[in-house]
Amino acid sequence: MRGAFCVLSMFAVGAVFGQQPNRFDVLITGARVIDGSGSPWYYADVGILGDTIAAVGPLPNANATTRIDARGMVVAPGFIDIHSHARRNIFRVPTAENYLREGVTTIVEGPDGSSPVPLAPFLDRLRQTPISINFASFVGQGSIRSSVMGLVNRKATPEEIEKMKELAAQAMRDGAFGLSTGLFYVPGNFTPTEEVIDLAKVVGRMGGIHISHMREEASHVLDSVRETIRIGEEGGLPTQITHHKMIGGPNWGKSLESLKLVEEARARGVDVTIDQYPYTASSTGISALFPQWALEGGQKSTVERLSAPSERARIKAAIGEALKIDRGAGDPKNVSIVNCSFDRTLAGKNLAEITQARGATPSFENAADTAIDLVSKGGCSAIYHAISEDDVARIMRSPYTMIASDGEIPVFGEESPHPRSYGTFARVLGFYVRESHVLTLEDAVHKMSGYPAARLKLWDRGQLRPGMKADVVVFDPAKVADKSEYNRPHQYSVGVRDVIVNGKLALRADAVTTERPGRVLYGPGRQ
Ligand SMILES: [Zn+2]
Repeated sequence: MRGAFCVLSMFAVGAVFGQQPNRFDVLITGARVIDGSGSPWYYADVGILGDTIAAVGPLPNANATTRIDARGMVVAPGFIDIHSHARRNIFRVPTAENYLREGVTTIVEGPDGSSPVPLAPFLDRLRQTPISINFASFVGQGSIRSSVMGLVNRKATPEEIEKMKELAAQAMRDGAFGLSTGLFYVPGNFTPTEEVIDLAKVVGRMGGIHISHMREEASHVLDSVRETIRIGEEGGLPTQITHHKMIGGPNWGKSLESLKLVEEARARGVDVTIDQYPYTASSTGISALFPQWALEGGQKSTVERLSAPSERARIKAAIGEALKIDRGAGDPKNVSIVNCSFDRTLAGKNLAEITQARGATPSFENAADTAIDLVSKGGCSAIYHAISEDDVARIMRSPYTMIASDGEIPVFGEESPHPRSYGTFARVLGFYVRESHVLTLEDAVHKMSGYPAARLKLWDRGQLRPGMKADVVVFDPAKVADKSEYNRPHQYSVGVRDVIVNGKLALRADAVTTERPGRVLYGPGRQ
């Protein structure tokens, strides 16, 4: 931090006295600069030396090894994705091309309560892997809990809580940026709020934040928001509602109230924020249709429960309800399969189609049987069309909302992933800024760069000014757009022309380069 500050003040002084360096490694000229702070754009050149932005301003006589003519383009800080599931494929696809082509230069892993525990071996392996973009991680509360006490549905003993606190502290020392919870998932859903707060206090003292896939995002979404706020308030740390949404028709419109809860909490000094992906469909396991009690102990226990007729009937009834008023949003057609490990041909098909192919009419009951069958065979990932556009836009407009994908690094052509992996950032810039005017371009860039950087305490990234690390994106504001669709997901976004990561061009003139300049980033508790 100290080094970054010195560099910053040196160039700040240089700018004041007109002593800009005159020779750069990379010089971007003639662009509209959107600096990530939310301020209106201005024309400037951007000079990069090594891995650092060395000058921003008119640089008419400067020389450079690499010149980028950015007339007509926007130059912005590289985007930061604070909720990513990239670890599944980062070693297979180290370019993270889907992210790169959206202008993302940093992804943050370990979301939803799930991360490697311990974190250090994973981060070490990653550091030895040449990757195109920066990689950071949270530590997952669910992973900590299951490593101490398995997937059981009971309170932790005082000894177990001490062990969990130590694992959380160790993860912070290893470089985590904070604690993620997935209180909707096993074993987060077995975790009392007080236990989360115990861990949050440890993480908060070491500079970390709390980010939560909340306990419930449908009929109890407001209680979940209150719980997330409470964890921040009593844990004494910043707290974030991740991928905020209202699932299921009866819950649409509740963002009015959830945003009010956030504002009230902020007014009394609780640092609560939100992130969101710009889609009206979510994506998670098909078992999300199941009642939570049915998932205790993991897959094997669930299958055992299904073999008892009375339990099976209860589970089936609950799935039918979920299809009606929750994740199914009133039609089994709204649930489509991303991937089933046991049968690749199911990718892209919806629950109504699969039910029909089994020779049954796609009623709620029959579709529930299909879901049970899929889970019994090993489970699938799925997409759920159950969110309203009004809620998406209202949440997006909140000044407390940043943009995050909740996506992953797809292997091009494999499975049928949610389009958010390919399109999140480009979709906000194209659809929500240019076409729908939900946000200004400056606000959108801020929500993708300066805001998540500040949230993560990444003080040397997220803004385009001298002294900051040179993570930079050059995009065409008239063309930037997402192309990935639910039924044709493997489409890269367009309009992002150049991406610079730590001073090196990882994407140049629409082509992925051979550079792999990404770094592992370490959080504030690193020792
Ligand atoms: Zn999640």
